[in-house]
Amino acid sequence: MGKDERKPYEEKALMEKNNLRGVKLTSEGYDVAALEQEELLENKRMEEMRLNINQTIAIADKGGVLPEEIFCIIHINTFVYCVSEKRYYPAEIAVSSFSLQDGIPNEEHVFHKMVKPGQLPMGYAGDAKIMANETHQIDPPTYGDDDYNIEEVFYDLKKFLETRLVGSKRLPVLYTHAKQMKMVQQVLDTWCDDFGERLLFQVYNLQYMFRVLRNAVARSNMWSSDTFSDRVIEMDKFAYSKGICCAYHDVTSVPHQCSRSVVVRYAYTICDNCCGDIDIPLVPGHHVPHSSKVPRLRASSQMSLASTNRSSVSF
Ligand SMILES: [Zn+2]
Repeated sequence: MGKDERKPYEEKALMEKNNLRGVKLTSEGYDVAALEQEELLENKRMEEMRLNINQTIAIADKGGVLPEEIFCIIHINTFVYCVSEKRYYPAEIAVSSFSLQDGIPNEEHVFHKMVKPGQLPMGYAGDAKIMANETHQIDPPTYGDDDYNIEEVFYDLKKFLETRLVGSKRLPVLYTHAKQMKMVQQVLDTWCDDFGERLLFQVYNLQYMFRVLRNAVARSNMWSSDTFSDRVIEMDKFAYSKGICCAYHDVTSVPHQCSRSVVVRYAYTICDNCCGDIDIPLVPGHHVPHSSKVPRLRASSQMSLASTNRSSVSF
């Protein structure tokens, strides 16, 4: 029997041997126990995240400072994920920081950078081009283009985040769309490894935070699952508002794909849905886009209308 003919028998024997030692493998050859362990850890992390979000909002609410609580939202556009390097090649990053009281008061509360990741790994140019065409339309690095600014982006981001929480050097929690969570966490953790920084980036679920915040200001469990907040985020009322994307995307046909636009309009969406219940007037350019028409707040919130009637009209 030749080497190739022996291979399947040897593999089967090895699997059986492993199984005899108590190591069960999936049909693809993955260790079942390790996968289960990974799932358990992930569930535990999510449980911890939900608990932290509940506590943060409950403590701020109890202390009467929920309107001033600062929330940071992050978005990253990427070119590709290189499987062998286990590394994303980012294209653009943005973070907004806002409170229900002040919304996004000025430019200093928005961090935005185009990322130059250097040359892409061999064989990924096509994938990067497809990703760019289908989403953000940022030109991927061409062959020989080793323009690199990730270290600068990382330290600028660190500086921005360190100044968010007054009197604290602790980094704020970064909220992002549920679909981006794993990618964003991995990008930030990779950068920490690359630059030898022992920072703790906590990337949390935006939709969950939005639901808890909405219920807290409404004083009821009206949004009983993330489906409610998710639907409002997906509706994306301010997707085509002017003046919130970066200069690069302003002259493209996809300004809504801009990371800067995403983090600003998520903050606007949250303010638009939450401020009315605690009688904070919506200020165009701070809580909603400049172009929005905002309702006048009634003298008393006792004769409460559904807060959707008190949100802005987008143009
Ligand atoms: Zn942009």
